[in-house]
Amino acid sequence: MTDITSLTLTELVKNIKDKNLSSTEITKAFVERSEKSKELNTYITEDFTSAINKAKKFDEKPNFDLKLPGIPIAVKDLFCTIGVKTTAGSKILNNFIPTYESTVTQNIWNQGAILLGKLNCDEFAMGSSNETSFFGNVQNPIDKNLVPGGSSGGSSSSLTANLTPVTIGTDTGGSIRQPASFTGTVGLKPTYGSCSRYGIVAFASSLDQAGPMSKNVKDCSLLLEVISSYDPKDSTSIEFKRNKYSEELTNNIKGKKIGIPKEYRVEGMSNEIEELWKKGIEYIKECGAEVIDISLPHTNYALPAYYIVAPAEASSNLARYDGVKYGFRTKGENLIDMYEKTRSDGFGNEVKRRIMIGTYVLSSGYYDAYYLKAQKVRRLIKKDFDQAYSKVDAILTPSTPSSAFKIGEKTNDPISMYLNDIFTVPVNLAGLPGISIPAGVDKKGYPLGLQIIGKAFDEQTILNIAYSMEEKINFKNKITDWWIK
Ligand code: GLN
Repeated sequence: MTDITSLTLTELVKNIKDKNLSSTEITKAFVERSEKSKELNTYITEDFTSAINKAKKFDEKPNFDLKLPGIPIAVKDLFCTIGVKTTAGSKILNNFIPTYESTVTQNIWNQGAILLGKLNCDEFAMGSSNETSFFGNVQNPIDKNLVPGGSSGGSSSSLTANLTPVTIGTDTGGSIRQPASFTGTVGLKPTYGSCSRYGIVAFASSLDQAGPMSKNVKDCSLLLEVISSYDPKDSTSIEFKRNKYSEELTNNIKGKKIGIPKEYRVEGMSNEIEELWKKGIEYIKECGAEVIDISLPHTNYALPAYYIVAPAEASSNLARYDGVKYGFRTKGENLIDMYEKTRSDGFGNEVKRRIMIGTYVLSSGYYDAYYLKAQKVRRLIKKDFDQAYSKVDAILTPSTPSSAFKIGEKTNDPISMYLNDIFTVPVNLAGLPGISIPAGVDKKGYPLGLQIIGKAFDEQTILNIAYSMEEKINFKNKITDWWIK
């Protein structure tokens, strides 16, 4: 039999249900491989002993009616897990053990899954390369010199390296789709309000969404089905009829209208991305869909608007880390001094930069010129999409303007780092669902992704389009296990 850890989620579930594999066998296989894969630095907290115990318990009294029966899963360290340290990649949460569970992870455990551990990420999910993590950078299994993307870089790397069968990330401006694109995997950001934000360490509350990351579209649809739910504990959670995404998945997309936005042909985009996009358009036509040119005129303003709105919300959300709550404290001479020292010691540079930008754009005299203006731009971006969706069912774009870049390449150039989010950010600003699927490789053999953006609450359509394209593209990731000790 093939190596257990290289099986997809769907295959593992089938093997468990058919009693070919036990949860203990599967969990041990992922734990053993993770033990040998420390060089990648994907885990912040391992929960391996407890995972194996839970797997044994599951095998004693299995429930095969569950959707994730006895399946071990590692999650981004931004999801609060009861009794298990949750750091958000930050020193300031270095000794924080939540007394509550995020709704999204609770949904996963309710379906029989088992926590393997907490995965590395950019500090408070601010970054595109996982280099802002207090716990160090993560390597991309494709090539040791490459970043795995960010902020869900520990998730994308673990998934690609077969350390977890699927995983979950969060996406505020691209943090699921960009790392998926950099590692040749699938990542979906659901519609804002689809997955509960309860128990997720907040970055920018009007943009943050949790979502599935997987090796194929089928697994992605199954995991979305599990995590998407209405939650009264999140005031922005939305009650709508959720599909049975995995059961309703079909590769029949005949007659679907797919928009190609001309504004996504940005300056400086490599020919390879342009070629990939063209190929994607051909594939989609072969699948029976109709391709239509559309315009999203305010695309150019999405990035500047995002880098005002997101830091503004972050500066407000991060005010709670004051040395009084959450454990970490640096002593001071008085209360104010303690606040200042705690925050200077506890936050990294990128987080401090965002807090400063955020407080600046929210301060009196600048609020109207920056924050309010950015909110107006956001409204226009949403309007562009609304107009496009009167003509098309979904939109096809590249996921990122380049393949994975080198570790250290953009660390000292925040603007060039931010530019990496150019294709993903508009989707968050408009609250829409978007999925990135692997679609090819560049000259160096590094994966490249295509993004399919859907109408609000219409995850099923983008999953179906992704599913039919996946069949045509037939992408295979090349992993050499160079990191295995
Ligand atoms: N790279 C973007 C940022 O740094 C997006 C991060 C995210 O989606 N969490 O803000």
